Amino acid sequence: MEALSGVHQIKVPFPKGLSGSTNAYVIEGERGNILIDSGWDTPEALWALREGLKADNLKLQDIKTIVITHIHPDHYGLAGKVKQLCGAKVAMHSAEAELIASRYSKFDELLDSVANDLSRNGVPQDELLNLKNASLWMKDFITCEQPDIMLKDGDRISNGTVEIQVIRTPGHSPGHICLYEPRRRLLFSGDHVLYETNPVVGYNPQSGNDPLSDYLSSLRKLDNFKTSFVFPGHGPVFNGLGLRVGRIISLYEERKKEIMRALDSGLKTAYQIAQEVSRRGGGAAFDSLNSWDKRTSVMESLAYLKLLVNEGNVGSVEMDSVLFYVSTK
Ligand SMILES: [Zn+2]
Ligand SMILES: [Zn+2]
Repeated sequence: MEALSGVHQIKVPFPKGLSGSTNAYVIEGERGNILIDSGWDTPEALWALREGLKADNLKLQDIKTIVITHIHPDHYGLAGKVKQLCGAKVAMHSAEAELIASRYSKFDELLDSVANDLSRNGVPQDELLNLKNASLWMKDFITCEQPDIMLKDGDRISNGTVEIQVIRTPGHSPGHICLYEPRRRLLFSGDHVLYETNPVVGYNPQSGNDPLSDYLSSLRKLDNFKTSFVFPGHGPVFNGLGLRVGRIISLYEERKKEIMRALDSGLKTAYQIAQEVSRRGGGAAFDSLNSWDKRTSVMESLAYLKLLVNEGNVGSVEMDSVLFYVSTK
């Protein structure tokens, strides 16, 4: 679908059994087209991309650059296959490129370190293996492709017609980038800002020490970029970026207060906090969630706790190799 003149959105479906789709964007240019994000690596996704291009009279072979907002499999998974087909160069932030090997090639080591974090944060031993292995299936839906172009904040990418600017927005992922087109004030926001949902910001072995603080700073950074339309990685295109960002920030403030209230009744682990405040699965009880949502809930709670520790409101103490958090207010 041509959303604006020369800017196309193609919905690339998630693998079978998962609901949802990734928005891939194509920006036309006289020196070749730019593809922003690609979708998961499945035959259905590649077909949807090809059909979406065809419906708008575009061709795979005209894609010269593939810009990846971040290396989560729903954005980066298919990039390698698209590159094989059209010879395009793959570009991403260098901080994101550094995570590829540990995330997708040394999967076992990463999962060991995830399990270590989960155990230290109160996940009971009988749940540990299920939570540890909850992401194992994902590696079947990605072609691991090292980038040809390493990006940094402020870099510009031109296709001869349109120039887009790289804005580094760590938080959801450490090397996440948004792409800004200043002439028409368009923002391609990846998973940084979505209209209908908030992205997962969780603490994990690759997230850096305080991903939520990074995320909130990255949201405020967008104030510097006057925006007419936001083209997110999932869900509808929208305007009113400032309102949406304000809403997201206030939701985070509310959750912080909720976690402080939960800590009023005693020392708690990140796992216990997740049991009390999880919103995953549409707000379902924690015990009814699947392993992936449970793991994500614990990692999200941990991100809040790290932020509250850095703000001086919460402290942590270790007892029998488990971290307990306590309000210091
Ligand atoms: Zn993501
Ligand atoms: Zn995504």
